[in-house]
Amino acid sequence: MSQPKLIDDEADIALIQCYNRKFIDGSHILHHNGVVDAYGHLSFRHPLNPDVFVMSRCIAPGTISSPLDLIEYWVSNAEPLDPNSAKGYAERCIHSEIYKRHRDVNAAAHSHSEAVIPYTISGVPLKACYHAAGFIGSKGAPVYDIANHFEEGDGKDMLVRYEHLGSALAALFDGGNSVVLMRGHGFTVVAENMECAVLRAVYTQKNATILTAAITLRAAANANERIPPEEAPKIRYLNEEEASAAAGMTRWSVQRPWLLWMREVEASKLYLNSA
Ligand SMILES: [Zn+2]
Repeated sequence: MSQPKLIDDEADIALIQCYNRKFIDGSHILHHNGVVDAYGHLSFRHPLNPDVFVMSRCIAPGTISSPLDLIEYWVSNAEPLDPNSAKGYAERCIHSEIYKRHRDVNAAAHSHSEAVIPYTISGVPLKACYHAAGFIGSKGAPVYDIANHFEEGDGKDMLVRYEHLGSALAALFDGGNSVVLMRGHGFTVVAENMECAVLRAVYTQKNATILTAAITLRAAANANERIPPEEAPKIRYLNEEEASAAAGMTRWSVQRPWLLWMREVEASKLYLNSA
């Protein structure tokens, strides 16, 4: 196992400070937008060592406040670099297995969003229905069913506690998927950087809220106007070309919402960031 690159100059120290500060802001942004509550988490791949990733210790994302709250983990096994460190979140294998399988992924976020969970249990696909969520795609985000991956002796509390459970989840990001739903649990997003991961988590939740409203509205109109199901207008989703182009748009424009969201959380007395 390779050792993390030594932080040996001021530029490296400044880089780490920048990532730590961004991570804490990103965790606060996810909480401020209701994407995470006491549960859920953000992570990033270490900018100086791709075999290492960083998460907070096991606390609510809105209460992360200092670099002392952060723990470095090996991508290979989700164990902390410092053997004396706390183990951290039970679900850190979500992140380790994603970084192991997808070398182009540098950030991931995991949420138990109440707006999204209905799409993990109903069989109704979560497709991109507006431009800000084109990254979800036109075919519907894949749904990870943890029950298909349990092994003998596994705890069945729905948490991704083991490498084999995380590995199966990570495989659903193949082919460029950036969102995977998790049955009866939530969802996970990946991106090339923390800003995009946070944006995707926020807009996955918004897409779910909008789509639920549209489906409900359509059903109510059908009933009110006595429209037979076979004659009822269908929900209009983004097509593949529109979804792909819209995904590019949020990628190049991500700094606009990021700078707004950063100001929002840094102006709130709830959130502290000493990084
Ligand atoms: Zn979870």
